[in-house]
Amino acid sequence: MPVACRMCGGPAVLKRPKTGDAVCKDCFFYAFENEVNYTITNGNLFKRGDRVAVGASGGKDSTVLAYILKLLNERHDYGIELILLSVDEGITGYRDDSLETVKRNQHQYDLPLKIVSYEDLYGWTMDAIVKQIGLKNNCTFCGVFRRQALDRGAMLLKANKIATGHNADDIAETVLMNVLRGDIARLRRCTAITTGAEGGLPRCKPLKYTYEKEIVMYAYFKKLDYFSTECIYSPNAYRGHARTYLKDLERIRPSSIIDLIHSGESLSIKKDVKMPVQGTCTRCGYISSNAICKACTLLEGLNKGLPKLAIGKSNKSRRLLDAASQSSDSTNEKTSPKEKKKDVTF
Ligand code: SF4
Ligand code: ZN
Repeated sequence: MPVACRMCGGPAVLKRPKTGDAVCKDCFFYAFENEVNYTITNGNLFKRGDRVAVGASGGKDSTVLAYILKLLNERHDYGIELILLSVDEGITGYRDDSLETVKRNQHQYDLPLKIVSYEDLYGWTMDAIVKQIGLKNNCTFCGVFRRQALDRGAMLLKANKIATGHNADDIAETVLMNVLRGDIARLRRCTAITTGAEGGLPRCKPLKYTYEKEIVMYAYFKKLDYFSTECIYSPNAYRGHARTYLKDLERIRPSSIIDLIHSGESLSIKKDVKMPVQGTCTRCGYISSNAICKACTLLEGLNKGLPKLAIGKSNKSRRLLDAASQSSDSTNEKTSPKEKKKDVTF
């Protein structure tokens, strides 16, 4: 006997990873879409008239995000304007292919698309950065630059909000990593559904409670066009271990993912944990919680041929770079050719 759909009683075709319920395809779509709509309305993520830049990489999460935001905006009349925003990190054989997917999504969903590149913004591609620093800290550079590139792209688009495709698994992994590092400030921040509101350009995560496995199922059954190859520079060993551990936990108890998010959220209610104050970088003018932002510090390290000094805690890396500048100023009056590389432009 076929298993009956828990919602409509018809023949079920799948078991929902999040709830364990057997459901038919249409009921799965209905539940999935309603849950994302609930996350958006309950979290007050958008208001009528918002111009929302949707971070689009061509991967499953951002493709589902763009598709579902367009669908829910029409179904529930949110009254928001959606624009796809992609960042080209300059990774040959990976990002160039995934951007082709975003260009197809642009036509499939009839949404405008803007692409900003590391090369134009910073004068460095990830290919060039990896050539200089190797495969150890590449994701630190890439992550910091991507974050700022999205802000800068959104500002160019005159968007007043950014929506990203972070899913429940991503957030649970980050909770786990921050617990393991003992980083309480980040632990508080990482479960927030909206961040950066103080800096004037809030970022929100409409898929915060959506399980990765369900995103894959949704994309598969909806036949969405997405790119599924891993980045060729993806060592990120620490996150990889956290991910494997989380997947093991999920196998034993599917609610582990949501439980971890709730643990992080309950911590964020505590008021005695110091939070960084958002301001703007004195060098490039973009959002930063330090006088000089991490993107500018990393870029200075790259341009001076001292990328390793720029990695790590902001205050320490600034001290190291300033000390290196002073000693090279006193021994060498001239600017080294590497320093002539592009500064942050805006
Ligand atoms: Fe960038 Fe690392 Fe992600 Fe590749 S895996 S896109 S280098 S952050
Ligand atoms: Zn800066």
